Amino acid sequence: MLPILMYHKVDLVPPQAGYLGNYVLPEQFENQLTALSRWGYTPIALEDWLDFRGGLRKPPRRPIALTFDDGYRSTHDIAWPVLRRHDATATVFLVTDLIGKTNLWDTSELQEPLLSATEIAAMHARGIHFGSHTCTHRSLTGMYAAEALVELTRSRAALGTLLGRPVVTLAYPYNNNNYKVRRLARQAGYKAAVLGRGRINARWTSPWALRRIKIDTQMTVDALDRLLTRLRWWAGF
Ligand SMILES: [Zn+2]
Repeated sequence: MLPILMYHKVDLVPPQAGYLGNYVLPEQFENQLTALSRWGYTPIALEDWLDFRGGLRKPPRRPIALTFDDGYRSTHDIAWPVLRRHDATATVFLVTDLIGKTNLWDTSELQEPLLSATEIAAMHARGIHFGSHTCTHRSLTGMYAAEALVELTRSRAALGTLLGRPVVTLAYPYNNNNYKVRRLARQAGYKAAVLGRGRINARWTSPWALRRIKIDTQMTVDALDRLLTRLRWWAGF
């Protein structure tokens, strides 16, 4: 059983920000990591989950995956030091055409810097994992199959070159996916893909449709506790 938390920006909320649902305050993130460890959770990489799921390795008692969408620079500047202090890993999903640029897909939103290749390399060297969030962050469900496949394969190849190892995880832009898109993700070589919706993942959950719990500033430690407890109960664990 695996809960996956979905973060975007761990940062103070700038006054010009349009969509507040993408923020978690640094202090909240710190408190969440402290609480997770108190509750017996061990942060794992999504790749590790594949091994656990396949029975190749034994999982920790309560695995949990922390994921960051879009790869904002705050992931390096603010979230990463907190992760390091807690000895926790995470998976960051990058928009490969926009590395070192800003969230250009979001024309109505405040433009914020995205991770540079140098920052990605530094984090990767210290145990942070990276996955694809496609090349351009356009919704894959609104494209022809051939075009979606290019987004999936080209971003995977670019990341493979940047990191010097095959990339096997994907986050669907806007969490939009359907049967066709999931099949293309598999065809493009991804072994796990995440979407939205606050449910837990069991061994029988399709690895190309892993559910995530969205975390924003409204999520208190108590609310997270109640949610994880309810999901564990629901999963019979
Ligand atoms: Zn995104």
